[in-house]
Amino acid sequence: AKQSGRDAVRRFNWELKDALIHKTELIKDLRQAILNQEFYLLYQPIVNKHGVVLKFEALIRWQHPEKGLIAPDQFISYAEESGQIIEIGHWVIQEAKQALGAIRSVYGENIQIGVNVSPIQLSKQQDGNGLLLADLLSKESCGNGQNSLVVEITEHLLMNLDESTRDALLAFREKGIQVALDDFGTGYSSLAYIMNYDIDYLKIDQSFVQKLGEEHASQTLCEAIISMAHALGVSVIAEGVETKEQANLLIGYGCDYLQGYYFSRPIPLDQVLIFKQDKLI
Ligand code: C2E
Ligand code: CA
Ligand code: CA
Ligand code: CA
Repeated sequence: AKQSGRDAVRRFNWELKDALIHKTELIKDLRQAILNQEFYLLYQPIVNKHGVVLKFEALIRWQHPEKGLIAPDQFISYAEESGQIIEIGHWVIQEAKQALGAIRSVYGENIQIGVNVSPIQLSKQQDGNGLLLADLLSKESCGNGQNSLVVEITEHLLMNLDESTRDALLAFREKGIQVALDDFGTGYSSLAYIMNYDIDYLKIDQSFVQKLGEEHASQTLCEAIISMAHALGVSVIAEGVETKEQANLLIGYGCDYLQGYYFSRPIPLDQVLIFKQDKLI
């Protein structure tokens, strides 16, 4: 037993070491990634209750020269830790704005694109706040000049809000930049509190959506979120919709927008433009 215990410790140490090497390597490789054009964005359609595509969410991918395709969950936190998220976030917004112009010329001028923004980008200490606002407000390559990127921030951000982040959110309100609260339901913020920041959309976290068919509690929760949001004038997007049953339940509750594999996976821009499908059900 003692031997196997020691083995376990050794194994654990090796795994820890591997993880650290992996992390250090990735942070080093991130430096070249923008320059070498290793990032790209996929776009996932967001539909209304009739299946009409009205928005897209931009989702980053990293095509690493040796390690292959890396999902954001595997590198965004490192980029946040190293500060590189500022530069990456800048790239994401420029790229998404350009895409918006192209998508609007095919799908119409009302289309919006949601971009995920890290809490680090909203914080002045990193000098990210000024850059983020300037990026969002610059009119270049943005269809009709109207700024229509929707900033997606996580609910957790609101729960430990520093002053600079609060300023950034107030600036968004002042400038008419729309904000979506991502992963809603995983934190503990009240909807009344959220109203202080003029949030435009709530995105119900996919963990609740995916339990809809099985768990009565999830049904009650989704229904309650939707009706409370509406009472406060906030629109609701359900994410991670994978089945027809989930879609129908959500539509029955009055959910405004739906996003998930049931309608479409995230796809490259050229596919968005070439295979225009403005109705997905
Ligand atoms: P998120 O913002 O909650 O994005 C939704 C995630 O759910 C995406 O994963 C999407 O591909 C996935 N998804 C969409 N529909 C379904 C579905 O029906 N079923 C399931 N199981 N999954 C679905 P992805 O693309 O791997 O992104 C993961 C997270 O990485 C995002 O979560 C977001 O927090 C972050 N992220 C992605 N792109 C960016 C970015 O450009 N900047 C920053 N800061 N974070 C990003
Ligand atoms: Ca998101
Ligand atoms: Ca607003
Ligand atoms: Ca989410």
